[in-house]
Amino acid sequence: MAKDYYEILGVAKSATAEEIKKAYRKLAHKYHPDKGQGNDARFKEVNEAYQVLSNAEKRGQYDQYGQTFEDAQRNGGGFGGQGNPFGGSAGGWDFSGFGGQGGVDFDLGDIFGDIFGGQKARQAHRERGIDLEMPLTITFEEAVFGVEKSITLEKKDACKTCDGTGAKPGTKVVTCSVCHGQGQIRTQRRTILGNIATSTPCEKCDGSGKLPEDPCTTCNGSGIKRQEKTIEVQIPAGIDHGQRVAVRGEGEVGYRGSKAGDLYLEIRVKPHPEIKRQGFNLYKELPISFTQAALGTKIELETLDGKIELKIPAGTQSGKVFRVPNRGVPVINSNKRGDFYITARVVVPHKLTKEETELIKKLAELNGESVEVNKSFWENIKDSF
Ligand SMILES: [Zn+2]
Ligand SMILES: [Zn+2]
Repeated sequence: MAKDYYEILGVAKSATAEEIKKAYRKLAHKYHPDKGQGNDARFKEVNEAYQVLSNAEKRGQYDQYGQTFEDAQRNGGGFGGQGNPFGGSAGGWDFSGFGGQGGVDFDLGDIFGDIFGGQKARQAHRERGIDLEMPLTITFEEAVFGVEKSITLEKKDACKTCDGTGAKPGTKVVTCSVCHGQGQIRTQRRTILGNIATSTPCEKCDGSGKLPEDPCTTCNGSGIKRQEKTIEVQIPAGIDHGQRVAVRGEGEVGYRGSKAGDLYLEIRVKPHPEIKRQGFNLYKELPISFTQAALGTKIELETLDGKIELKIPAGTQSGKVFRVPNRGVPVINSNKRGDFYITARVVVPHKLTKEETELIKKLAELNGESVEVNKSFWENIKDSF
């Protein structure tokens, strides 16, 4: 294990996502290179730890293997561990680039927006719109196979009257006469240390350098109007609980048509009643009877995509695990799939019919096993107290 990410963030292995986020923010604040106490190396380390521990998938990999699949790939090492279907190559864990719909990734942008909120707010009029974050709950099957979701959200969007320009329809947006389109006002101050030049955002145009000739009355010239919008989002197959999908350009729009922020969907996956997931593998328990286990059988079994026939060999013990290859979760950005693991559980019947009892007794006799507790034995114990 290269680095102890938990130690770097100063949290316990059992820390909740909230605790990890809190610890990260505190340390990012402390070590940010712009701060007095700033420490570039520590800052990078803290970010690296957070990238892994804040992502349920990566954290799971790290906990299990001491590194993530990404790390393994980068370092050229393999995940040759037993029971891991991915071998040495996880096959492109590049979570970015799901076309125009955005993709799954990790982006520090929004967190820094929170931390350095003050600074960001001052520049907001000249910069892109704010990123939005919202949870999206999907079913277990939707996470495995992917789904297209229709999402309706209320946000600051481009004003429909002026198309986000802030200018009344038919009128122009002109260069600001105060800052001459620079968006900044430079001032020279004479101080004890000599002349100091400072730049401040132009108040007339809010730093944009442009002004509507005649402001749109719907949005008061801001180009922004709070409204509902419905978007279609493609959730990729193989996504897991806690991962984020970035939808580029679907955050809030910026001031007077400047670039919109992004929308981050935090994926929450509803648990399946019978199937559990870990990474890209699926796990299910299969109850079988004592006779099926002893004599062997074929059992038709429902996987997430169709039925399979599972052969239970004679003499199967309770707890025996059967691996069905390529019936697990699709690996994002590859054509690989994880495996489906089925654990046989031999179930002892609660009640037996008279006939069943007789037959099983006969079997016990055959094996020379004693199956009845001797009454007098219990009475003897009672008497001795
Ligand atoms: Zn408008
Ligand atoms: Zn100006």
